Amino acid sequence: MASRKPVNRPSVKHPSHKHPLHIFKAQEEDEIICSGCELELTGEAFKCTKSDCDYFLHKSCFDLPRELNHKSHPNHPLTLLHSPPYESNAYGCDACGQYGSSFIYHCSKCQYDVHVGCAFLPEILEREDHEHKLTLVFNSPCKGREGMVFMCDVCKETVSENLWVYHCKVCDYGTHVHSCAVYENHEAKRGGGGEEEAVLEALRMESLRNARMELANMRISNKINNSVIHFGDEPRYHWVRK
Ligand SMILES: [Zn+2]
Ligand SMILES: [Zn+2]
Ligand SMILES: [Zn+2]
Ligand SMILES: [Zn+2]
Ligand SMILES: [Zn+2]
Ligand SMILES: [Zn+2]
Repeated sequence: MASRKPVNRPSVKHPSHKHPLHIFKAQEEDEIICSGCELELTGEAFKCTKSDCDYFLHKSCFDLPRELNHKSHPNHPLTLLHSPPYESNAYGCDACGQYGSSFIYHCSKCQYDVHVGCAFLPEILEREDHEHKLTLVFNSPCKGREGMVFMCDVCKETVSENLWVYHCKVCDYGTHVHSCAVYENHEAKRGGGGEEEAVLEALRMESLRNARMELANMRISNKINNSVIHFGDEPRYHWVRK
């Protein structure tokens, strides 16, 4: 355990915020939302040095790659913006279909937008109630099939054809990439909306944690070009829930 004595904490600047930030340790019960990815803040993070300013960033969000080559959008790189490039100051995520109002991976040619959390979703997902691994696909499996809509096998609601799906090809089983993708919490999810958010956050945090580790590894192995992630054909994130 580190000493509890107050230490002189150095401050750092981040281009997303006008005030300097310093290190901050988030506790789960704090229920703080990261001002970057808009997911729950956990562990080592940054906080604005102004006591009356509620600006927080995950360590991983502090250090996100400025440009991302993502499999979901192979023709153009996605650029990290610290706020949506739209007058409304919001965007609809092309991965999960939900809104965002802070950090965004954006293609300006196509107005293709994804949440930071969605950009780092694991490509392979295992769930206890399905015997096969699910693969992240970047369109609904029914896209282009005349008159067919894909139904999420968890919430039984339709998935619009351009949204991402966790899919089993063998069974044509699939789920939304947000809350429906987490098995343990179905019952809670049906119980109320608050739980649903918690599930979504848990899922995204898990993948962000993996992404953070991945990024750290890549920085070590590839110092020359560390601002660009190349998603190869191998699944990068292997997420197994125990
Ligand atoms: Zn964050
Ligand atoms: Zn501030
Ligand atoms: Zn999203
Ligand atoms: Zn594009
Ligand atoms: Zn669903
Ligand atoms: Zn299956």
